[in-house]
Amino acid sequence: MGKLHSKLSARDRLLAHFLANIGRVMDGDELRPVSGNISEWARRVRELRTEQGYLILTHNDRADLKPGQYLLENPKPQPAFERAISAGTRAFVLDRNGFTCQMCGAVAGEAHPNDPSRKTRLHIGHIIDKSMGGSDDAANLRAICSVCNEGASNATMTRPDLLKLMTQIRRATAVDQFEAMRWLMRKFPKQAAQVLEGKGT
Ligand SMILES: [Zn+2]
Repeated sequence: MGKLHSKLSARDRLLAHFLANIGRVMDGDELRPVSGNISEWARRVRELRTEQGYLILTHNDRADLKPGQYLLENPKPQPAFERAISAGTRAFVLDRNGFTCQMCGAVAGEAHPNDPSRKTRLHIGHIIDKSMGGSDDAANLRAICSVCNEGASNATMTRPDLLKLMTQIRRATAVDQFEAMRWLMRKFPKQAAQVLEGKGT
């Protein structure tokens, strides 16, 4: 290893390698030597995500990745504001939005409707963009999945109205209707119990 090389930290070398290999799946056999064969190379990779906002994907994000595989698809790190958001605010916004992407309706942890190979991972985004004067207050924040966040979703911004929604539900298969019911009952357990007791509102 040359002198210039050793001036960079293991994390910087890993980042440079990821940025030079956008869209290519890599594993420890490749990344460990890049780090300078340090034992904590995997922790440095995680820090690129947790501290610097690079969305390095693992098998937790994508069903087609095996444990120990890593993939960076988007060279743009997450904005610093999202990393600066407190855990409390993040949890509050996700809970308020029912752990559901407010653009496409994908649910956290489930396969993404537009790309079933990806597990839905939610981010916090602005309702009114910062450039339009929007604030970082919880009132101006919402849950957005990584697909919509990358602009890859072709979902529209408009919410379906009740009539359209009911029409869709009535046309769905019984199995899908049952799934929708289960999802709603999990989301509104108290109200579901009240409906079952006959005092639903
Ligand atoms: Zn989405």
